[in-house]
Amino acid sequence: MSNGSTQQCTLRVEGMHCVSCSRRVETEVLKLPGVSGVSVSLPMHEARIEYDPAKTDVAAIKKAIAEAGYQPFDPSLSPEEEDARRRKADRILRRKLIVAVIFSVPIAVISMGDLLLGYGWRNWLLLVLTLPVFFFSASHIFAGAWKAFKKRTTNMDTLIATGVIAAFGFSVVATIWPNLFVQAGHVHVYYEAAAVIITLILTGRMLEARATRQTSEAIRKLIGLQPRTATVIRDGAAVEVPIEQVAVGDRVVVRPGGKIPVDGEVVQGSSFVDESMVTGEPMPVEKRPGQPVIGGTINKSGSFEFTATKVGPDTVLQHIVQLVRNAQASKAPIARLADVVSSYFVPVVIAVATLALCAWLLAGYGWAMASLVFVSVLIISCPCALGLATPTAIMVGTGAGAEHGILIKSGAALEGIQRINTVVLDKTGTLTSGKPVVTAIHAAPGVDSAELLRLAASVEAGSEHPIGEAIVREAQTKNLPVQNVQDFRALEGQGAEATVDGQRLLLGNSSLLRERNIDTGPLSAEAEALSAAAQTPVFVARDGKVMGVIGISDTLRPTSRQAVAQLRAMGLDVVMLTGDSERTARAIAQQAGIEHVIADVLPERKADAVKQLQAQGKIVAMVGDGINDAPALAQADIGMAIGSGTDVAIETADVTLLRSDIQSVVHALLLSRRTMRTIKQNLFFAFVYNVVLIPVASLGLVNPMLASLAMVLSDVSVVGNSLRLRTFRFDR
Ligand code: ADP
Ligand code: MG
Repeated sequence: MSNGSTQQCTLRVEGMHCVSCSRRVETEVLKLPGVSGVSVSLPMHEARIEYDPAKTDVAAIKKAIAEAGYQPFDPSLSPEEEDARRRKADRILRRKLIVAVIFSVPIAVISMGDLLLGYGWRNWLLLVLTLPVFFFSASHIFAGAWKAFKKRTTNMDTLIATGVIAAFGFSVVATIWPNLFVQAGHVHVYYEAAAVIITLILTGRMLEARATRQTSEAIRKLIGLQPRTATVIRDGAAVEVPIEQVAVGDRVVVRPGGKIPVDGEVVQGSSFVDESMVTGEPMPVEKRPGQPVIGGTINKSGSFEFTATKVGPDTVLQHIVQLVRNAQASKAPIARLADVVSSYFVPVVIAVATLALCAWLLAGYGWAMASLVFVSVLIISCPCALGLATPTAIMVGTGAGAEHGILIKSGAALEGIQRINTVVLDKTGTLTSGKPVVTAIHAAPGVDSAELLRLAASVEAGSEHPIGEAIVREAQTKNLPVQNVQDFRALEGQGAEATVDGQRLLLGNSSLLRERNIDTGPLSAEAEALSAAAQTPVFVARDGKVMGVIGISDTLRPTSRQAVAQLRAMGLDVVMLTGDSERTARAIAQQAGIEHVIADVLPERKADAVKQLQAQGKIVAMVGDGINDAPALAQADIGMAIGSGTDVAIETADVTLLRSDIQSVVHALLLSRRTMRTIKQNLFFAFVYNVVLIPVASLGLVNPMLASLAMVLSDVSVVGNSLRLRTFRFDR
């Protein structure tokens, strides 16, 4: 779908209170030519728009949002500005609420008590007391309803405004012309209802704003990791500068206990660094010259200096923040249900309320009772709980994941995880530590084993494969100097070849040698023994003749076995996928407790293997290190990249597990299940509340004040239920 001409922009949109609002922004913006997608997040007040810059621009999009009755802003607000804006909105809301409370209390007291005032006097006094509540505290509600009215649509404000105006308007008429409505010497007025409804609605919005803010706490925590200043060397002296002034190539000084300001590579000194905030890895990691450091992590013991390699928006931390932000603003497919329902909701509710009004009038109850019912139905059916049900849970769920090194890319991914029934695990670097070591060297008769290792290492010096690195490391520890080679070629998923001193050398697995018609016979017994011991035999051939086999062992990660057992206990089919030989793969699978093994798979065939499983009706999560299994990650229903905060992995995977531990797969699954349960509870609660209470209110069994109290409670309980996800425990 994505062609080169599509751009994305994010706008802040203020003034949305319910799903009707967010839907309207979506439909209005979608009407613009060139707009291909819009996703609005109600709790984040954000709209993400995909558009063709040749056909429309941001200004036109902003105009459409403004015309729909909302206020669009550029997203490029600093956290401080955003805070300031939020505080201002809070202040206004608080002032309105205080005024509403101050006047509602005497209104309620006077309405209840039959004070010494005559009805005429009393009603006039109530009218005066209600005016500030009506015109000041509720002004924004009327403004919202008016805007909707002008656009010939309805929203939550429409419901409340209609209800409140009905109650207030009826009372004013009854106050001015009491004779019209005298019943047994009484004139019923509903100033109290109007004032209390407004007060409760404002209280609800205030609570809701507070609670919604807590749902984005994870992001604030992540942003807060970045220190504001850094100590860099300028003209030979260490000076403290604001973080924005750190440039790529700067030499940065880190002291014990200090925070690492940006990403870089250690050049001098060494230390242990606590990276748990970014990777979730609890143990401090040793850092020596040449090793990478991540901005936002905390230096423990020693002092060191590093060269900045990534600054500003390019750092790992900023990428993570951006990813989590995107995820939080994205919609889960399950939210579509709420969207569709609420688009029919408001008009249907107004129809039901009007029907109830007519029915009560026809039954001869008079305008007073009939309008009371009308108001109750309108108030009780505000669909805001429905609108908050999904996005708040997605926000808290993705945030909780991020805090534990589980980066979930979107609401759709979070929803998709719990649907999987098969987990395909890449072997190297996923089940195993990915840091293989040489365990055995068997030279063919007449070949010197040091010579064998030296030649093998010379070829692998150009290789980036962990096996190659293991062979080079082994040669180094044995002080065997590697030689320059010509025509090096890495054979993806099979081995490598190169020319050394005019000899053609080939390294790799048995299938590679078979392909080249090289007889492995002389060493096949040794190779078999290595495989049976869960080691990978790497054959070395010179000029078409096998000269030896090197045993490589890559040990299982300490938690792999337990994680596999947990996945199986959760009812999932666990499959190991590897390019290694069947024999070695089976031996390792046995150690890990896996029965289903797919071995001898070339990297480019890994996606096919996933496809085959899917063809059998399996819903597959593929877990890989993202290095040579990116296509398989993309093919899987859910792709999980493990153990690397690299850009490529973050880009292609639905889930990035920063911690190199399959246990994170278990945690992602549990988190997804729990989030979906929360969403279902929320939706159920919001629906049931409306479905049950609308008929009850139509029957005149709920007064308008109780109705607004119930509405506020439903909102707050939905958000509160989502916030419970923050306490999700990952250590089970
Ligand atoms: P995995 O599927 O476990 O990630 P790969 O697809 O990277 O493994 O490699 C599959 C097999 O190919 C390895 O088990 C090894 O036998 C062989 N191989 C790949 N690259 C090399 C190399 N540079 N040197 C020796 N053997 C290699
Ligand atoms: Mg691999």
